[in-house]
Amino acid sequence: MVFLLFLLLQVGPLAVAESRDVSKNKPQLATSTTVSQGLHRLAEQSERLKVVKLGQSAGGRPIEAVLVSADPDFLNQSAPQANKVTVMLFGSQHGNEPAGSEALRRLVKEFSQNQHSELLTRLNLVLVVLANPDGRDLASRYNANKDNTNIDYVALAAGETQLLVDALHDFDPDVVYDAHESGIWKRVLTKQQGWLTDVEAQFDMGNNPNIDIRLHHYTEQKLLPMLIERVSEAGLPASRYRGEITQLEQSVARGGLGITNLRNYAALQGRVSILVENRLDNKQGHYDSPRNIDERIRKQHLSMLTMLQLVSEEAEPLLAVSRAARSHWQSGTHGEQELVMSVGFGVNESEPQVEIPLVRLSDGQSALHTFANHDAIIASQAVALPAAYAITREQARMATWLARHHIDFTTLTKAQSFAAQRLSITKLSPPLNVRSGVREKIQATVHSEPSQVTLSAGDLLVPMAQPLAPLAALMLDPRSANALYQEASWPWLALGEFPVFPILTPP
Ligand SMILES: [Zn+2]
Repeated sequence: MVFLLFLLLQVGPLAVAESRDVSKNKPQLATSTTVSQGLHRLAEQSERLKVVKLGQSAGGRPIEAVLVSADPDFLNQSAPQANKVTVMLFGSQHGNEPAGSEALRRLVKEFSQNQHSELLTRLNLVLVVLANPDGRDLASRYNANKDNTNIDYVALAAGETQLLVDALHDFDPDVVYDAHESGIWKRVLTKQQGWLTDVEAQFDMGNNPNIDIRLHHYTEQKLLPMLIERVSEAGLPASRYRGEITQLEQSVARGGLGITNLRNYAALQGRVSILVENRLDNKQGHYDSPRNIDERIRKQHLSMLTMLQLVSEEAEPLLAVSRAARSHWQSGTHGEQELVMSVGFGVNESEPQVEIPLVRLSDGQSALHTFANHDAIIASQAVALPAAYAITREQARMATWLARHHIDFTTLTKAQSFAAQRLSITKLSPPLNVRSGVREKIQATVHSEPSQVTLSAGDLLVPMAQPLAPLAALMLDPRSANALYQEASWPWLALGEFPVFPILTPP
């Protein structure tokens, strides 16, 4: 009798919850706690799996990675191995895009059953199944503090971003794969104009022009086209990501060029970095599973597995370019060590328009629409990489921030004189075209002048002879479109001499 009552209590509320959620066409997902328990159970049963804790979310939930390897050394020390590609996959940084996490859970289960074993001869995997467990449980894009970790890679304001940056440092992956879903239903395009976007799988890569040139070429000219072709051949139409299409009159480009997102941040560190944006079906549709979640998981799983198979085949050239990029960055300008500070999209002169299929909401008819094509990358304001950057303001706070990025620096113990380039801001323009959801940047006009400067004890020097030099320079130099000072918590941009500037003589 007691047992029966127990059963009723167990089954009753669950069944009600399930039917209510299905009627709202909302998938019922395991909580982050259930996901974590399942991963631990699988890891206990398999010699090839190990769960490690990366840290804790803002809401107090553990963030974990599942290591998958045929080699106990990798499972125990997680150090990169000479002949194996370390691939790190991030599931659902946006908590309301759950199919990436679900596909990773499926992969973990398959590896625990010794499926895909052939992949482990060339790959070691780090699977961050739930990159944003708060968002998972709250069905939110953000964490419990409402931080969007996906654009936080310069400021590192959220604890989640910090622990993912630490994980990049610790595991030192050759490949980073960031799994997202892109809604086909848009407020203006669909609700006002009557059209849905029509995508299945979209891929992009680190595309900031300061990424190591060999790595950039390899990814853009070889790996990404092969991935798109293979996923399409497997029955899932794939294409290069065009950014979000939110209305008929807009222009299209690619994923953003900024280093505030994981994709470009990781690529600037010298890693092959891939973004997937798979179809997130609209709420109103009729599907075999709530909001088509089963199909969405199948597509994410197919995209991931195809990527892993390709990376495994490409292990040799990929390891060569990614490891070279991490030991010695090579800029795109004739072998010079030069960075472009201003980056943006402009009209593609050789293909000024592109046709993109959309689906009419009223009758499901597909039609091609013409969009202005702004996918040409316009880079300007080239600056030679100096010997170092000097930091002469809020040094203690800056030292903490640099350490959090794992960027090397030294603190002067006594006054010292250097040949430098003084930077002064002569004009500040407020952001142009403020659009909702798009962070626009303050434009600083900067005058630079060679001069001998004497730094004080306590000032910081960030040497540019280090693997993270391009990343550091793009965050520190006030001329950069992605300077730290574009972040709300670092409002340093003001007319006059700037407290961070290039040092020309090696420290
Ligand atoms: Zn997303």
